[in-house]
Amino acid sequence: MYLVDYHLHTSFSSDSEAPMEDMILSAIDKGLDEIAFTDHVDFDDRYTLPDYNLYIPYLEDLKHKYKNDITIKLGIEIGLESTKADLVNTMTAAFPFDFIIGSSHSVRCYDLYFDQNEYFSTRTKQEAYSTYFEEMLLNIKSCNDFCVYGHMDFISRYGLYEDNTLNYMEYAPFIDAVLKELIARGKGIEINTSGYRYGINNCYPDIEILKRYKALGGEIITIGSDAHYTKDVGDHIGVAYDMLHTAGFKDITVFKGRRPEFIRL
Ligand SMILES: [Zn+2]
Ligand SMILES: [Zn+2]
Repeated sequence: MYLVDYHLHTSFSSDSEAPMEDMILSAIDKGLDEIAFTDHVDFDDRYTLPDYNLYIPYLEDLKHKYKNDITIKLGIEIGLESTKADLVNTMTAAFPFDFIIGSSHSVRCYDLYFDQNEYFSTRTKQEAYSTYFEEMLLNIKSCNDFCVYGHMDFISRYGLYEDNTLNYMEYAPFIDAVLKELIARGKGIEINTSGYRYGINNCYPDIEILKRYKALGGEIITIGSDAHYTKDVGDHIGVAYDMLHTAGFKDITVFKGRRPEFIRL
């Protein structure tokens, strides 16, 4: 089986201190065939951005150094916000990323991490979660150059409710609208295994959303650990491969120059 981890952070992300080379060595040690570095770019003054004029040559050197051991791709995880679509589209056009994860880290300018209290304490769960998906739809329509939507039901990590679980059936009209728009635009979703490190004992998204994406005609799925530490590289990716099988997918997707390539499971 071709093992990939398509969601990795390094010390170039403001919330990680992991040296890129150590992440590579960890991936090789765990027997991975291919990885993509997807450091954060969020247009919010509370985050710092990588300097890609330094980043790209640095990654290229390491890619060359380990070329016989592992395939390494230049990726990015960019925070999508329809009100900042110009900034997002300018950034994705400026550098030769192989792979782009578009993620919702903020909703209506509330950062889900920094502004968690402000966003959730003023909304019912139904309002908070449905607004998240409505905003996601606007993001997909305005931020045009990404490959997969990151951790689609991620809002459930941050909710301040008694039960933060996000059930597909409760939000089906909102989620279906998002999935249909992604599929119409040739975009995928990721299976993000970080839920196992955040106490939900599950991936983002839940398998019900994965099955729905498939039923609507979607084919593009990447797998990523969202590791911010070397020990977490490849964490629980076996579970993600099992989910792909269970949901009826035949391939895993990798990217080159933002084009999907399909590899048999
Ligand atoms: Zn993210
Ligand atoms: Zn991430």
